[in-house]
Amino acid sequence: MLGVAMSRPPAADRAMRTVACPYCGRETSVAREAISVPCAACNRRIELEDLQVTENIGRDLMTGASVLIRKEATVFGSIHAGEIIVHGMIRGDLWSSGRVLLSPSARVIGDIRAWSLVLEDGASVTGRLDIGTRHKPRR
Ligand SMILES: [Zn+2]
Repeated sequence: MLGVAMSRPPAADRAMRTVACPYCGRETSVAREAISVPCAACNRRIELEDLQVTENIGRDLMTGASVLIRKEATVFGSIHAGEIIVHGMIRGDLWSSGRVLLSPSARVIGDIRAWSLVLEDGASVTGRLDIGTRHKPRR
């Protein structure tokens, strides 16, 4: 799809890892090199590829892995992921089973629910923060 590049983890890094389903929040253990698995709880397919957004897109992003929003990109939609790193702009809600990192160029208009949040000097958020408790994603 336009503006979204996928990458697999390095082949040398073979081990199990724990991912949270971006739809229902249930954690599951998967092989590190797996690119997608069905969720045992909600039966939806969990994508496990890291996503990198390099231009403006208008859709939701759902992955058990990480999402990187480049500085030049704007996402109009919500993001559910294991980790979210933002250099660009998001108009939508964020949910992360792990860390959300907002760099100095990040602009978020939407609510953030995450296990942890790193808010660097200069980043802006307009919305509610709910950090540090294990959450199920909102439907
Ligand atoms: Zn699920």
